[in-house]
Amino acid sequence: MTFRALVVTRDEAGATHAGVQEISLADLPAGDVVVAVEYSTVNYKDGLCLGSGGGLVRSYPHVPGIDFAGTVEKSDDPRYKPGDKVVLTGWRVGEIHWGGYAQKARVKADWLVPLPAGLTTKQAMAVGTAGLTAMLAILALEDHGLKPGNGPVLVTGAAGGVGSVAVALLAAAGYEVAAVTGRPETEAYLRDLGARQIVPREAINEIVKRPLESETWAGCIDAVGGPMMARVLGQLKYGGSIASVGLAGGTTLPASVVPFLLRGVNILGIDSVPQPYARRVTAWTRITRDMPKDKLEAMVTVWRLADLPQLGADILAGKVKGRAVIDVN
Ligand code: NDP
Repeated sequence: MTFRALVVTRDEAGATHAGVQEISLADLPAGDVVVAVEYSTVNYKDGLCLGSGGGLVRSYPHVPGIDFAGTVEKSDDPRYKPGDKVVLTGWRVGEIHWGGYAQKARVKADWLVPLPAGLTTKQAMAVGTAGLTAMLAILALEDHGLKPGNGPVLVTGAAGGVGSVAVALLAAAGYEVAAVTGRPETEAYLRDLGARQIVPREAINEIVKRPLESETWAGCIDAVGGPMMARVLGQLKYGGSIASVGLAGGTTLPASVVPFLLRGVNILGIDSVPQPYARRVTAWTRITRDMPKDKLEAMVTVWRLADLPQLGADILAGKVKGRAVIDVN
């Protein structure tokens, strides 16, 4: 029996080509659980893996999709049985292991978590890796002292996937959220998600001129990196932290060390990929508790497998608003 998958191939000249193909269970990589995938999503990394691979994909043909939610069909692991609803994020699935852009996936049981009670598989993927990462960033900031009432929390790349979920989760938890966006047309969307203040990208994207500016932000979730992150360092309140999540604006950090020395600020690195089971469950539990379902619904657009090549190009160009969910069936 065959099923549909989005397969990326590479030709002899090294160019990659993405298209929907029929594949079978025998094509899937080894693993102990077969999942009938219901939904996957498009994250920035998926954009890379749908195209040239960005150094993430080791071999072709390849099925990308760094996250998915669905129903267990077959399990050789006692933790899961047929009919269980499950979610997968991270563990380099969709990069070095075939991922969620298929109607079935075979993975290691260790990489799964049970679908959190109170979420549908579609809602879990509306959150997806981007949203889980936003939650991990909030947990890290709170572990370092962030509390509602400390002052405004800045979210960069706010209209993107990580940013949108971060804005909604922070606002729902009682934080005052300031959202940085380069797309002024998303202002109403961001305010609906809970942003109290909109900061235009150009107001904060310049190379640092003064290492210290006014103490403005109690914390920051940064999906952008580059000059913007460097600038935010000098605007943090004393002892505040930036959760460094992404690189949409660049990988170099043209920063001064002065904010570390004179304001005791911190950079907290967030890597969602190898998160231990307990931390993933903690993050999903808090997402289920905090995320208002209407806000989640407002950030979602639903697409099909055949839409993925275009969506991959769009997310790399910063054109995707909120979360793109893929209905693989
Ligand atoms: P999106 O493309 O959905 O969001 C990125 C946002 O960044 C854009 O929507 C845009 O927001 C802003 N942006 C894009 N280009 C630039 C630029 N040149 N300068 C300034 N801002 C820019 O991607 P995701 O939300 O999926 O991912 C965001 C980042 O987080 C990526 O770098 C990704 O690799 C990383 N990531 C990291 C994870 C981890 O475990 N550490 C997990 C998931 C993602 P706006 O239009 O509002 O300005």
